[in-house]
Amino acid sequence: MFEDIKDNIYKIPNQYKNEFRRYKFKQNNLRILLISIFLLFEQLYYAIFISNPGSLLEKIFYVTASIMLIFAVSSMILYYHKPSEINFFHLIYEKGIGVMGVTIAVIRVVVISGQSARLTTIYIAVIYGLAVIFYYSYLESLFIYIYGIILLYFISVVYNPSLLESTVITDAVSNNVIAWIASIVIYRKFKNEFINQKTIEEKNKKLKEISDEDRLTGIYNRRKLEEILKENYNNSLRYNNKFSIILLDLDHFKNVNDNYGHQIGDKVLQEVSSLLLEKIRKVDYCGRWGGEEFLIILPETDLASAVKLAKRLRSEIGNYEFTKVQNITSSFGVSTYSSNKDIKEIINAADEALYKAKDNGRNRVETIENNI
Ligand code: GH3
Ligand code: MG
Ligand code: MG
Repeated sequence: MFEDIKDNIYKIPNQYKNEFRRYKFKQNNLRILLISIFLLFEQLYYAIFISNPGSLLEKIFYVTASIMLIFAVSSMILYYHKPSEINFFHLIYEKGIGVMGVTIAVIRVVVISGQSARLTTIYIAVIYGLAVIFYYSYLESLFIYIYGIILLYFISVVYNPSLLESTVITDAVSNNVIAWIASIVIYRKFKNEFINQKTIEEKNKKLKEISDEDRLTGIYNRRKLEEILKENYNNSLRYNNKFSIILLDLDHFKNVNDNYGHQIGDKVLQEVSSLLLEKIRKVDYCGRWGGEEFLIILPETDLASAVKLAKRLRSEIGNYEFTKVQNITSSFGVSTYSSNKDIKEIINAADEALYKAKDNGRNRVETIENNI
């Protein structure tokens, strides 16, 4: 999955397409909210204080102010009720503000520039503003800029044909092309930032997966224990070293959860982990093998010494005052390396011994080897 992202650094991977659409919409909606509120007041100000009462301009300002009010209300609603799926309406709405902006700008060019035949500053502000404020895909922005030119041409034909003889249309085309390029650059950056963010999330997830630590207790996890076992086993094969393992399981742990709750159960598992770590040698390894099962790997240790340590650990756990629960006992299975066993057989021997300890009444240490 991670390789997918790297290979298509400019393409949103399929599994993130929906999320990207939602993210883009959320960002655009926030901008629609800010821009429409600003434009609402700006257009009202122009309608009331700048334009002549009853003029065409006054009407245009009132109409655009109303449209901005609609955008402001819609964006507010969509801000508090974020859509879980971006549908056709959302896509139209997202581009609507751009189309409206360009429409207002074009009308203002045709109506305001009059005989002087020039692009107005509001036109420039709108087309570059769209490019830097909103995130539109290449095609979406292309559509908006082409729409602007076509609209400018036809409105000029109808209302102000003198503009056609000036450089207004060609100036507008040039500005629109530059604005489109700006829009592309900004959209690419936006998209790449999203992809980078996802790449980092993927990486972190992978790192967590290959982490050595058990999340609850902070001691080694099973993955790491298996790695250490393999290392010790290979060492023993090559140099004929001894090594032993202790598998321990807390007795009637289900009762702890049932009587005191899962959180206290977790706390006890953490306390057992700390206790074990404290009582083993620096060269030994201790980790969580499963729910309430722990594995201790003892390099350079024969079966007799391992059994001795297991017995000590059994009484340490038995005497420890755990949070709330106070007394807990544990059962132990011990096994040791020998050249005629593979790793699985060594673990199985410890497991079998543990079963034997449970069968024989718990709170005890057992082994199935007979050479002790
Ligand atoms: P036995 O003496 O035969 O081992 O009895 P037991 O109750 O300890 O054994 P069982 O396998 O029936 O139950 C193990 C319990 O350990 C069940 C499960 O809820 C609990 N457990 C496993 N992992 C966790 C954990 O991470 N946190 C907590 N709180 N409990 C856990
Ligand atoms: Mg148990
Ligand atoms: Mg168990």
